[in-house]
Amino acid sequence: MSDITQLRKDFPTLKQTIEGHPLVYLDSGATSQKPQAVIDAVNLFYTKNNANVHRGLHTLSEVATTQYEKVREKLARFLDVNAMECVWTSGATHSINLVAAGLTSQLSTGDVILITALEHHANIVPWQQLAARTGAKLEIISVDEHGVINSDLALAEIQKSKPKVFACSHASNTLGNIQDVQAFVAKAKELGAITLVDGAQAFLHLRPNLRQLDCDFYVLSAHKALGPTGLGVLYGKYELLNALPVYQTGGEMIDTVSFTKTTFRQAPAKFEPGTPNISAVLGFGAALDYLNAINFDALHQYEQGLYQYLIQRLQSIDGIKVYGDLKNNIGTASFTYKNEHHYDLAMLLNSYGVAVRSGHHCTQPLMQTLNLNGTIRVSLAFYNNRCDVDAFISALTNSIELIEG
Ligand code: PMP
Repeated sequence: MSDITQLRKDFPTLKQTIEGHPLVYLDSGATSQKPQAVIDAVNLFYTKNNANVHRGLHTLSEVATTQYEKVREKLARFLDVNAMECVWTSGATHSINLVAAGLTSQLSTGDVILITALEHHANIVPWQQLAARTGAKLEIISVDEHGVINSDLALAEIQKSKPKVFACSHASNTLGNIQDVQAFVAKAKELGAITLVDGAQAFLHLRPNLRQLDCDFYVLSAHKALGPTGLGVLYGKYELLNALPVYQTGGEMIDTVSFTKTTFRQAPAKFEPGTPNISAVLGFGAALDYLNAINFDALHQYEQGLYQYLIQRLQSIDGIKVYGDLKNNIGTASFTYKNEHHYDLAMLLNSYGVAVRSGHHCTQPLMQTLNLNGTIRVSLAFYNNRCDVDAFISALTNSIELIEG
């Protein structure tokens, strides 16, 4: 796609050299780079419009409040839900914790919380803690030896365990696999489960329509989708969301406070105590504008083509093993080279200016299932191009030569 060259110019970080080489950024799964428009929006807030929201009657506060709430509406349109159903959090981790904590009174001994074997720790540990608090059982949908969930087996697993809570990543952060969440959610809901989809990785690549997906909760992190760090979203179907008890308490989320009693506002306000991350919300608003302005279908096709090119080039190297579902993927390739330590290869790649992630990627249970101590993860975004893949492959073959002596 020729205008990728144009789009790349919007990302100032991509224009630098690392260790004397042009930066090849292949770690968008950890955090995406930010277009200039996002940086400008954050900058504009601090240079011109800085004021707290929902508080003052003065002009600056009103401007900040209006702009801040407009982003919530923009996000809701993007997800095809209502603005009242979108809570600002500090990230996907915070969002999942908020739901898991809120479900405590709804679970009891023997209830099943069902997750999958490829979840990020953020979508394991809060549920494990919820199980420990309530006596519920944490059950796991397994993956095969490549790290792939078989949809039919998963549906059978859901049917068998009749979960009270079902939580699943839309796409795996380690392997990039896209899960059949639409079918999983429908089945789990049919059996009465509360469903949560972790969209931290999928949001940028798949742009989910939550009305169609019909899950009860969906979480994401702005920083993985061109936005600033320190901001996340919890979407919840309004009745379920509003029925969750308050999580953190303090200013702004209350109706009335006396020393004997406090009453709380309705969602989303009841989950947003204290001063929010206003600049990040405004930056994320610019990120959504940016995404709205580019042709998603063309971009998606481009990303998929680039991913297939990456896989083909990786698999042509002797000793490389790529894990995951290579047909149904957001553009993330996790691989090992013989028995070499992922850390050494990642360090060598960095010396060529190539940024990848190595290790367990916050999915230790998945690594244990695959019998690995870690992988190297290349995670693409639409601003990557074939030159990035070629530079990476050449750095990788050079690094392997060095290792092999
Ligand atoms: N879930 C998935 C699938 C992720 O990739 C991540 C981030 N790596 C998280 C949850 C947690 O996101 P954050 O660290 O932004 O809260």
